[in-house]
Amino acid sequence: MRLRYGNGLEVECEGRRILIDPKVSLEGIPTLISHAHSDHVPRNLRTAKSDIFVTEGTSYILRRLYGGNYKILHYNEGFEIGRIEVYAFPSGHIFGSAGFLINCEGISLFYTGDVNPRGGLTVESPARIARSDLLVMEATYGLPRFRFPNPEVVRSKLARWAVKEAIEGRFPVISAYLVGKSQEVIALLNRYTNLEVSVSKRIADVSEAYEKFGLRYVTDRDSMAHVTHRAEMNAARVTGWALFSKRESDFPLSAHADFYDLLSIVEHSNPRKVFTVYGFSKEFAEILKKIGIEAEDLRDTWIEL
Ligand SMILES: [Zn+2]
Repeated sequence: MRLRYGNGLEVECEGRRILIDPKVSLEGIPTLISHAHSDHVPRNLRTAKSDIFVTEGTSYILRRLYGGNYKILHYNEGFEIGRIEVYAFPSGHIFGSAGFLINCEGISLFYTGDVNPRGGLTVESPARIARSDLLVMEATYGLPRFRFPNPEVVRSKLARWAVKEAIEGRFPVISAYLVGKSQEVIALLNRYTNLEVSVSKRIADVSEAYEKFGLRYVTDRDSMAHVTHRAEMNAARVTGWALFSKRESDFPLSAHADFYDLLSIVEHSNPRKVFTVYGFSKEFAEILKKIGIEAEDLRDTWIEL
């Protein structure tokens, strides 16, 4: 087996190559997409000439955003690409998100994708981490200063803020990422408040893929609370990056693992080597090495295993 992080994660094994979350899908090379965020979706998805494997949830979102046909992966069920065996596990990041376990040539490799062991209101479950020989993991928040508060506490603070704004005659507007975070915000306003929720047209389009979660919203902005994917002045912001903000209406609700979650992922997977990608990948690999775990920031040169 060999791997590199160039056009997404590229794995070669038993004479075949697969691409995971590539920037560009290549003709005839099977492609796995871990979730529907645009930085994990090949830019030529609409014209791809290869099999694209995704979970059911991801297929619903991708169809709304790009159209297309997909080969569906079911969580926890293995399938084979040539002699490469692949399993998808829920990664808790957004609806449909998956980590992939790859077995080939007697080696197991687990790719976390974007991962959230705490889960959320609009995901299938918190992340499931597989034991593996090799772990390829995200490191978006791979520094010790990133310790997220309990998400239940952040959700209730956001709900309380929205209700207070409405009671005091202001119109609470919440800005959140189009795919995933917006739906989390709609779900929490539905569950924690009696405010009617309106959403921007684009959020409504994507949210149709979330039918199974029973989200309640309208597209008429004269409602009690509004969720938009655009940045607006005075809008509340909901993102992990709000962790150090002093602004009253910034809420650090993240769809990612924080630093300490990342460490527990390594512990669960118990690999002989960790490869880090995204965010603070270099720094996180250095920290792992200092505590005695073999680790490397994965780059675009092939690594033979
Ligand atoms: Zn993502």
